[in-house]
Amino acid sequence: MPHAATPPRPPPDRPGEACGTFGVFTPGESAARLTYFGLFALQHRGQESAGIAVSDGDVLTVFKDLGLVAQVFDETTLESLPGHVAIGHTRYSTTGSSVWENSQPVYRQIDHNGIALAHNGNLTNTAELATQLGKQAATTDSELMTEAIARSMLEGRDLAAALADALPRFDGAFTLAVMDRTTLVGVRDPYGFRPMCLGRIDGGWVVASETAALDIIGATFVRTVEAGEMVVIDKSGVRSVFPFPHRSPKLCLFEFIYFARPDSLLYGQNVHAARRRMGRRLAEQAPVKADVVVPVPESGIPAAQGYAAAAHIPYVDGLVKNRYVGRTFIEPAQVMRDRGIHMKLNPMREELEGRRVIMVDDSIVRGSTTRQLVQMVREAGATEVHMRISSPPYRWPCFYGMDTGDRATLLAADLTVEEIAASIGADSLAYLELASVVESTGAPEDGFCTACLSGDYPTEIPVSGDKFLLERS
Ligand code: AMP
Repeated sequence: MPHAATPPRPPPDRPGEACGTFGVFTPGESAARLTYFGLFALQHRGQESAGIAVSDGDVLTVFKDLGLVAQVFDETTLESLPGHVAIGHTRYSTTGSSVWENSQPVYRQIDHNGIALAHNGNLTNTAELATQLGKQAATTDSELMTEAIARSMLEGRDLAAALADALPRFDGAFTLAVMDRTTLVGVRDPYGFRPMCLGRIDGGWVVASETAALDIIGATFVRTVEAGEMVVIDKSGVRSVFPFPHRSPKLCLFEFIYFARPDSLLYGQNVHAARRRMGRRLAEQAPVKADVVVPVPESGIPAAQGYAAAAHIPYVDGLVKNRYVGRTFIEPAQVMRDRGIHMKLNPMREELEGRRVIMVDDSIVRGSTTRQLVQMVREAGATEVHMRISSPPYRWPCFYGMDTGDRATLLAADLTVEEIAASIGADSLAYLELASVVESTGAPEDGFCTACLSGDYPTEIPVSGDKFLLERS
């Protein structure tokens, strides 16, 4: 198995994404291959590492490495992973640094059995859990969860019973795909911060972070895994367990705004259509005279389409994205780093020159990308640049699986909208109101965690949100 003994890297200069989780139980032997394709559809949720755990009923094998799904796996690797139960993970580090040891699925041997766990989210009681388990050496919250579940299994419980026993000790965000040699379990924490759905494939079952991962493998969407639900899948079928006290669900609103793929369904609603509605509402709330509406690809596209349609202003592709930019191990040369954003986006002078531009994006987090984009569009000849954002100012750090860092790194933390406009160099700036974002989703009004936008955290939050906490201690 590849092993990269990379020293811990400093946090990336861009915010991170929630991870992708996937699991499949099939009558055949192709679980790893299906998982590969499922992960491929979930690549947007994490580009640092990818991994698959697979079992043929006797042997549980994990293969994982740093890199994109297509870099980590090839035909030969997949052929060496036969089995009918598998889970997979794409990772963006929210706890711990981006090193091989922290990639997932996490594996733990338990006598003659073993468990593998893939986690999306972030625990808020990591430090307490490390103390309770006497595992200060653990470097991620996911490793601590695996340890707690393993210990419960060592007391004689099967996987489902051990999960029901251990899960209530975890606080915060945890959507999990867990397996042992014979059983697959999908879990959402009691608030359901991160999404998970259940699908059917050729007499088998699938759990996945997003419905787009079902589509790619030809599985049919059955339903959402409920907040606080555990779906246990084995050869006798699927059953539900609810191991937590009931809470009202709080799906991350940012999944609708930015994270999730546009072709996924959340709360039964298509994400792209919701983003378009956000754009329409933004045009109603924050009109401005201009010649063209330009999206920031790709996340700003649906909102820009909605804005342009509602404002009756032409929509143009004023920025071109290099499709092949992903996370790579090759650090750009210093001379290129200074040109930062040009690696990713290039202006289309023909569409921008001499025009008043409305530039639409879904969010401003640290502001560095947006600032460079405004300048780039001006340099390409725009006479005015009006920034429109299809969500409210991002003012509060996330403790539930998004690596946005300290409050100090968030541009909007202590600034007014006018001050933010000045900071990014825009002629005007407007954000969409929170109530309109929620309404645009078409989902239940009180069904969201809006903490990053409202400061209203559904749970207690840790004193330190330090993602390297365990490594330092
Ligand atoms: P910035 O101006 O540096 O805050 O970057 C804003 C851009 O980051 C927008 O295009 C957003 O779509 C994008 N963005 C928002 N959240 C994230 C995230 N968690 N990871 C990466 N990019 C993000």
